[in-house]
Amino acid sequence: MKTPTLSPTARRKLLAWFDRHARPLPWRRDRDPYRIWVSEVMLQQTTVAAVAPRFEQFLAAFPDVRALAAADEQAVLKVWEGMGYYGRARNLRRAAQILVERYGGALPDDPAVWAELPGVGRYIRGAVLSQAFDRRLPVVEANTKRVLCRLFAQAGDVASGPVQSWLWETAAAILPKKRVGDFNQALMELGALVCTPDEPDCPNCPLKAECLARREGLQDRIPRRPARPAVVEVREVCVVARHKGRSAPVWFVGGLAGGIPLFLLALIAPRAGQPWRSRAFLAVALFAVIALFVILVIVAISEAHFTY
Ligand code: SF4
Repeated sequence: MKTPTLSPTARRKLLAWFDRHARPLPWRRDRDPYRIWVSEVMLQQTTVAAVAPRFEQFLAAFPDVRALAAADEQAVLKVWEGMGYYGRARNLRRAAQILVERYGGALPDDPAVWAELPGVGRYIRGAVLSQAFDRRLPVVEANTKRVLCRLFAQAGDVASGPVQSWLWETAAAILPKKRVGDFNQALMELGALVCTPDEPDCPNCPLKAECLARREGLQDRIPRRPARPAVVEVREVCVVARHKGRSAPVWFVGGLAGGIPLFLLALIAPRAGQPWRSRAFLAVALFAVIALFVILVIVAISEAHFTY
């Protein structure tokens, strides 16, 4: 797969657009690597709107890497409460401890150091080091994937290995020499605000002049959406026990629920008002289950006999 390039003019336009339209998010106030790192970890699996207020709370509780490393795990989890995916908080604290133990609490601009930290993958590494130190490292996440696929008319399966490799290579190839962190953020911001999944605002896009999907009218087909799972029609066969005008399912003998003795489930968790709670009903249902079991055993023996 060929790795495309972006013209210097398009890069300039994208950065100028970012300067005008970037949302004033709390982690964009400065280039502090600790703040950027915490924000990027929080933003994994959580929306910007949900993270923004929680970010300040976390920073108030653990203002720097030393404070986080020294904190009790339960205290960190408490501040993280409500955001889910608690493994992120545990890894963040553990990584802070490693940075304090091995590097005296410094956050180095060396990708090799970050690669060894728990919870730090290629995306976090690129995001923190490009934004904090302007290291020439790419980032690829949901928004950049969409923008890059449309920009270069990449119609392959985004989840496939070859397209994943293409995305990282392309994101690296189009980086400018300066303002790398801003450029990475600009691509993500463009995907969040303009090149949205359903209604990309192409007339107001700074990359419209070079966008191949726009030129070919393919915006709504790129990136390719995963095929919907086929609808499976299921037919169930159920044995129903009746007693004194009341009835209840006793055993499913076919379909997906085949073999599930509802009767036994009813015994485990009976609820008031349900017909199978009466003793007479239980007796009838038990008889039906035993009878059905005997029939199934006879059928199984017969089949075994005929196999010979
Ligand atoms: S021109 Fe349209 S499809 Fe192309 S990158 Fe911009 S918003 Fe996305």
